Amino acid sequence: MKIVKIDHLGIAVNSIDEGKNFFSDILGLKFEGSETVEEQKVTTAFFPVGESEVELLESTAPDGPVAKYIEKKGEGIQHIAFRVENIEEALSELKEKGVRLIDEKPRKGAGGAKIAFLHPKSTHGVLVELCER
Ligand code: ZN
Repeated sequence: MKIVKIDHLGIAVNSIDEGKNFFSDILGLKFEGSETVEEQKVTTAFFPVGESEVELLESTAPDGPVAKYIEKKGEGIQHIAFRVENIEEALSELKEKGVRLIDEKPRKGAGGAKIAFLHPKSTHGVLVELCER
């Protein structure tokens, strides 16, 4: 498998509007619009930073994964996303190497990307997302 770069950092926030206030108005990052991914009960907003991006995640439902994350740990970095050249290939290679996968098959993420998560038990506590665009 080939990891191309850090695609984005996913940050769980209570409110994208309030998050935007800091990342866009104060830090000066460009807000590239938001998108709701219903299957994951989340609205995402992207702010490019050089070759990578900051992704803010706001839950659309109290039982969504981002709401649960904030309930347990508070706002903060929720995942790190690596861009890979071929996500199916990466997943089968990682599975072969004994890495626990949350998603055995890629699913649809924001911006039409194919994404899959690795289990934090296999990654030293970091929720890792693979993404291919
Ligand atoms: Zn992400």
